[in-house]
Amino acid sequence: MNSDVVNRVLVGDRRAVARLITMIENDGDEARRALAELYPHTGQAHVVGVTGAPGTGKSTLVNELAKIYRRGGGQPIRSPKMVGIIAVDPTSPFSGGAILGDRVRMRELSGDPGVFIRSMATRGSLGGLARATADAIKVLDAAGYEIIFVETVGAGQAEVDIARTAHTTIVVQAPGLGDDIQAIKAGILEIADIFTVNKADREGADNAVMALQMMLDLNLASRPALHHGVMVESVGQVANLSHEQGWRPPILKTVALHSQGVEAVVEAIEAHLVYLKESQTLHRRERERIESELNNILQQELMRRLLRQVGERELAELIERISRREMDPYSAARRLIEGERFAH
Ligand code: GDP
Repeated sequence: MNSDVVNRVLVGDRRAVARLITMIENDGDEARRALAELYPHTGQAHVVGVTGAPGTGKSTLVNELAKIYRRGGGQPIRSPKMVGIIAVDPTSPFSGGAILGDRVRMRELSGDPGVFIRSMATRGSLGGLARATADAIKVLDAAGYEIIFVETVGAGQAEVDIARTAHTTIVVQAPGLGDDIQAIKAGILEIADIFTVNKADREGADNAVMALQMMLDLNLASRPALHHGVMVESVGQVANLSHEQGWRPPILKTVALHSQGVEAVVEAIEAHLVYLKESQTLHRRERERIESELNNILQQELMRRLLRQVGERELAELIERISRREMDPYSAARRLIEGERFAH
């Protein structure tokens, strides 16, 4: 049965894609086996994260971007691409249905077989959501979607983490929403490859652009200097990825509501992909992404195994003991891992 889903996904069967993503959300072994079979067929898509505070116009912008990619627009004219859209909402519980601006979106894009739209919400831990999102990306990738937008609601750390799985990250801002605060929050400057100041039809857009420009200058100035022409990289420095070797994030004004300025965003996305490839950054980011994905899986898998052995009652008892100060949490964790049991 599994191979059947896999084969259908590989030929781009939309129902099989939807079904496998649901299986992923339910976190079953079956989904894992299917993903293992699909894995060799992944790694083709360009994954574009779109993040920013609620209401800045991310959904509207992604719609417009999708339309341009579908008609092969931009300069130069390209062939139409298959577009996947994954809207991630870490703040709302799993709903099983469409969330966000999806209804509007459905109306505009759903008739097009070259567009696949899916919402994902948390039904447990944020780590679980990040992993499910990463797996959903793989399914769309294997099904032949060439550009995959991963839209995250909000601008907190969870969203940043999810955006980090993307090759190219667009940070969307809008005037009048406390621009400086929006940008500084949660290390968003570090992850941005492209900034868009959307709602440029509103007052304050130029100020928002200027504020971003200034922050970008400050941020670049505080970067480690080139040492004999070679960037000195400290271990574990993943934050400064986008700016290391000569990519300065462009700041683009858009009015997504009226499709204005969006082609320039497409150009920036494409230019960024060229930069990623030419500077070898794509390869490095991919390795870093895989490293963090593997870490994530190991943590969850080990935790799961441990919890299978320990059981809820025992864990509750242990927590009780720690709160009575009979034991400290480090020792409790160590003793659990070493196989000691505490239930009576
Ligand atoms: P999201 O929460 O970031 O996904 O934002 P939405 O795409 O749902 O947009 C929020 C609201 O802003 C909606 O009512 C949109 O119609 C509106 N909107 C989006 N883009 C623009 C724009 O460029 N100008 C103006 N004035 N409104 C916009």
